[in-house]
Amino acid sequence: TQFSDLGLSQPVLQALDLKGYTEPTPIQAQAIPPVLEGRDLMGIAQTGTGKTAAFMLPSIDRLREADRQTPFKSCRMLVLAPTRELAGQIAQSAKDYGALAGLKVHSIVGGTSVNKDRNKLHRGTDILVATPGRLLDLIDQNAFKLDGVEILVLDEADQMLDLGFIHALKRISQLVPKDRQTLFFSATMPRSIKDLAAQYCQSPVHVSV
Ligand code: AMP
Repeated sequence: TQFSDLGLSQPVLQALDLKGYTEPTPIQAQAIPPVLEGRDLMGIAQTGTGKTAAFMLPSIDRLREADRQTPFKSCRMLVLAPTRELAGQIAQSAKDYGALAGLKVHSIVGGTSVNKDRNKLHRGTDILVATPGRLLDLIDQNAFKLDGVEILVLDEADQMLDLGFIHALKRISQLVPKDRQTLFFSATMPRSIKDLAAQYCQSPVHVSV
């Protein structure tokens, strides 16, 4: 399979060319077509499999296609991640792939100034990468809302549960629009993760690598 067989747009294919990626990884080949169709996705995949690009590339094309304005004090795509390290890596990929599409990317994580986060999110952003705790802090301060979210990604969901984010994740699930698309990733699939996924996803396509 080639990237060009998966239905991605020219700007995204060019970004991949610049990065020097020649072939999609298995998770990318499986996930990209259904995500482009707007389906929810449940993926079992470890770090290092190329899962970041598997959700980021088709999401960027979905955002380009819908062509909405950047929402005030909200975002169009929300990526939840367990740690600041992972959030930083995802935000960097979003910048690499989204630059050609002209999408604004921000990340907010614990341990940094909340005031700076408030300021940078005031005008909204296209893609926000966040840890669940800091995101809820900003929501509780009326500095951010989730009503603009078209695509929601949970990355390393099992890690988020291990770190005690279950209540945060349940709250967030009630604040995002019902008609959004959800992409749910976890390295393992115990009962607690299946229950969480069932709360977040609607008839998801299952992929596993
Ligand atoms: P991830 O699993 O998303 O953390 O990605 C693991 C690493 O693989 C990252 O350094 C990516 O830049 C790289 N990568 C992702 N997709 C590809 C690809 N199709 N070809 C080559 N490298 C890739």
